[in-house]
Amino acid sequence: MHNIIIFGAPGSGKGTYSAALVERFGYSHISTGDVLRAEIQAGSQLGRIAAGYIEQGMLIPDDLMIDILASVYDSMRGGKGVIFDGFPRTIVQAGALKRILAERGEKVSVALNLIVSEDVLMQRLLGRALSEGRTDDNEETIRKRFTVYDTQTRPLVEWFRNEGVLAEFTFRGDKDRMIDEIIERVENL
Ligand code: AMP
Repeated sequence: MHNIIIFGAPGSGKGTYSAALVERFGYSHISTGDVLRAEIQAGSQLGRIAAGYIEQGMLIPDDLMIDILASVYDSMRGGKGVIFDGFPRTIVQAGALKRILAERGEKVSVALNLIVSEDVLMQRLLGRALSEGRTDDNEETIRKRFTVYDTQTRPLVEWFRNEGVLAEFTFRGDKDRMIDEIIERVENL
C-alpha cells in the first residue's frame, strides 16, 4: 500500500494535487482539515475544541490530532494507498505517523513538498476567502498560519529528507505542469 504525504504552506494546493492523485491512482484521501471542518459542522465536542484553534490560525494539539489520524487511517486501510493531506504538521506528528505506520507493517512511500511563493499564496487564500468563506481565510489569520507553518511545519522538510522520502515540487505558474510532475513521481513508486 502506498502512503503518500502531501505538505506545503497554507494555499500551496494540497487539496488540488491530492484530488489529482485520487483521480489518477484511486487512492483514499485523508485531509485532517476537512475532518475537523466536518466535526465543526456536526457540532461535536471535537468540533467545538477544533473551532477555537482553527479560527486563530493555530494548530490543534498533537495528541488529539494523532488519535484522530490513527482512527481515520484504520478505516481506510486495504485499498491501493492513502494520501495524507495536512498531516503531519509538526515533528511530533511525523514521529507518531512513523510509529502508527510501522505498527501496521507500513511506511511512508514519499513526502511531496509543494513550494509556492508567498505572494501567490496570499493571493490564492484571499481569493478562497471570497469563494469558500472559510473562517480562517482572512488576512490576519493567514499571516498567523504562515508563521505557524514556518516554525512548526517547515522543519518537516529536513525530517523527510533524513528519512529519504522527500520529493520537492516548485510551482512556476502552471498548475497542470505541476500535476504532471507529481503524477510522474508517484507513478515511479
Ligand atoms: P487545512 O485545511 O489543512 O489548511 O487545515 C485547516 C486548519 O485545521 C489548520 O490551520 C489547523 O488549525 C487545523 N489542522 C489541520 N490539520 C492539522 C494537523 N495535522 N495538526 C494540527 N492542526 C491541524
